[in-house]
Amino acid sequence: MTTPLRSFAATLVPQPRRRSVAVDVGGVIVGGEAPIAVQSMTNTDTADVEATVSQVAALAAAGSELVRITVDRPEAAAAVPRIKEKLLARHVRVPLIGDFHYIGHQLLTDHPAAAEALDKYRINPGNVGFGEKKDRQFATLIELAIRHSKPVRIGVNWGSLDGALLTRLMDENAAIPTPLSAAQVTREAIVQSALLSAARAEELGLGRERIILSAKVSAVQDLIAVYVELAKRSDHALHLGLTEAGMGTKGVVASSAALAILLQAGIGDTIRISLTPEPGGDRTREVRVAEELLQAMGLRSFVPVVAACPGCGRTTSTVFQELARRIEDDLRLAMPLWREKYPGVEALKVAVMGCIVNGPGESKHADIGISLPGTGETPAAPVFIDGNKAATLRGPRIADEFRVMVNAYVEKRWG
Ligand code: SF4
Repeated sequence: MTTPLRSFAATLVPQPRRRSVAVDVGGVIVGGEAPIAVQSMTNTDTADVEATVSQVAALAAAGSELVRITVDRPEAAAAVPRIKEKLLARHVRVPLIGDFHYIGHQLLTDHPAAAEALDKYRINPGNVGFGEKKDRQFATLIELAIRHSKPVRIGVNWGSLDGALLTRLMDENAAIPTPLSAAQVTREAIVQSALLSAARAEELGLGRERIILSAKVSAVQDLIAVYVELAKRSDHALHLGLTEAGMGTKGVVASSAALAILLQAGIGDTIRISLTPEPGGDRTREVRVAEELLQAMGLRSFVPVVAACPGCGRTTSTVFQELARRIEDDLRLAMPLWREKYPGVEALKVAVMGCIVNGPGESKHADIGISLPGTGETPAAPVFIDGNKAATLRGPRIADEFRVMVNAYVEKRWG
């Protein structure tokens, strides 16, 4: 290996987590030594209390540790305390974050019960106010956070970047002998918008332990560049997310690509995967993707891992796919109860393999694994527990019998 390659390879190993100031958001710690938190956002009309309560509860049940709701008008602000009450009545204690744009200062002033019920305020410095109102309205928001003892996220988004700051930086850049590109200046404006706003909030008296920063853009390389700068230039806790990531596979891939690189570099204290849902799609998917990303990177464990081979010409029946899917669904459904009943069960590793080629080998590496018979093989499925062959299943009830064995294994090991 050449020297440049060797030094590049050294950068690929996980870097120690960047030191950030811990922030308590309604009992969930973001930053410091705390595990990287998963968060999500509703897409219901917040004024519709029932719909919002249902979705917050679903997101929390899926594993979201913080949930953000839009607070865009007086009706939404008035609904916040009722949403909180109903959630508590359902024993859903997930911290609620209010997302404010344009009139947050007004809404929080006029609705003190909402200001109290929320666990954090998200402030966008690009649209907190314009002209001479900007500083005043930003100060009002920060004073409200201080009065109600709440943390804030200063969340810059390049779709609503502070126009005055960008213009000033562009003008300054044009006057230097070797100007930077417009893209570089825009990235710098995003970083400065977050850092200057945080500094202003601290001047106004909000402690650093009450400030989280984010600076979201929609292109992977821009996001990485912006967060690397933010991480270098501050010790604020950082919320990561690619904004407008898109629908379906594209959104999952783009978010994972960007966030994985930053997480590997030790950057990021909480993440959100912003997926555009399919019409009628399940909002909780963004939570699952966030969990799977952290788990795939070895940063946290949320659900037991099911190792399944991709299948090939040796798996011409659907038995193997169906079993892999059923086991995965079963484990996910069981987790809310198992988490309470079997502490540590998220470390469980299950293997569901399609044939004899890699089946027994992979199954032996799992806690419990099954090697299904491929096309042309004897119709028997050996099951391995802790590396040893424990049984051979046959007949039409293989799937049910294997599920019973998984449950028994969990009860025996973590019960
Ligand atoms: S384990 Fe067997 S069925 Fe699965 S991909 Fe490998 S060869 Fe194909």
